[in-house]
Amino acid sequence: MSQHAAAIRTKPNTMSLPMLKVVSPPQEEPLEGALAAEPPLQPNEDFLAELKANSDRLESASPQEILHWAVERFGDKFTMATAFGPEGMTIIHMLAEIAPATPIFNLDTGYQFQETLDLCERVRERYGITVELKRPATTVAEYEAMHGGPVYKDNPSQCCFDRKLTVLKNAVRGMHAWASAIRRDQSPDRAKTAIVGWDKKFKLVKVSPLANWTKQQVWKFITDEDVPYNPLHDQGYTSIGCWPCTRAVLLGEDDRAGRWSGTAKTECGLHSLGGDESVDD
Ligand code: SF4
Repeated sequence: MSQHAAAIRTKPNTMSLPMLKVVSPPQEEPLEGALAAEPPLQPNEDFLAELKANSDRLESASPQEILHWAVERFGDKFTMATAFGPEGMTIIHMLAEIAPATPIFNLDTGYQFQETLDLCERVRERYGITVELKRPATTVAEYEAMHGGPVYKDNPSQCCFDRKLTVLKNAVRGMHAWASAIRRDQSPDRAKTAIVGWDKKFKLVKVSPLANWTKQQVWKFITDEDVPYNPLHDQGYTSIGCWPCTRAVLLGEDDRAGRWSGTAKTECGLHSLGGDESVDD
């Protein structure tokens, strides 16, 4: 057989081979919250029973006693996210006395009111506490350029996801527990809040020292203790978030009526279960 003929016979018949598909290895989701901590916390039966027992025991405790327990139990893996609302400021004041080194952060979307950013500075002056401003990967200018304009106008849920939720998940990765600013009297969903429980959405222990307090108790504490608060509250802004999505409320309106007013959206998506919210947002 000639060399030419052998070459022809050994040449693979690529026409009959199936198309090869390049398959990338599956991307693993990063562990969240306390599951990514060192040591990790697992919400197994024993641990959930421990949380329940403490929650029941702390049911009649003061907010300060609850915070004391949380700081002793979780140490430097106990954190707090705040939007500097009245409840958040109340907890910051208490933590300043109990455990001022507690890491506290704010989700700085780039759309916050100047009054809110000024309050962050007032917290530093008053308590010596630096609230860390956690920011998304993109500036507002970059984000709006990427999307051809402000996303909050047409898709506020996407905007909140990109500029709040993603940042929040990163911020609490590796922590064990966080303080929640919710009160049980805020809504039927929040009425079921435990003092201490497992936050399924963020995979953290959630401690709610103000669960049993009323709005009146919060404002009495702020007045009695001269706690700094956002001056926009004196101008009819009962709930304060980003400036494009917040307006003052009218007489007789719900406290949150000024949030995403004119849209179907009522919450920013930081909720654990059915409207349960961990940030004083
Ligand atoms: S509150 Fe408004 S501006 Fe702020 S992140 Fe959500 S949609 Fe965007």
